[in-house]
Amino acid sequence: MGLLRLILLIVLGALLHRLWKRWRAQQAARRPPASRDQGHMLACAHCGMYVPEQDAVRDGTQVFCSVAHRNEYLNKHRAAQRKT
Ligand SMILES: [Zn+2]
Repeated sequence: MGLLRLILLIVLGALLHRLWKRWRAQQAARRPPASRDQGHMLACAHCGMYVPEQDAVRDGTQVFCSVAHRNEYLNKHRAAQRKT
């Protein structure tokens, strides 16, 4: 009876190990290849802060960290253009 119990425990252990490995593989596959902080970073034209590409506010070729900085940058830029 002792040996049978040992074999059952080993089989159960192997089964759990396989299930665990399969579950881990599924979790890894579900994860996107590049997480947010590993994505492409772009520098804000106004303050120079780096922001993830998908969060960046674009205006033509310029990139900004926020709409507020885009507006500030454009106001400054337009004011500088008016002087010349
Ligand atoms: Zn900024």
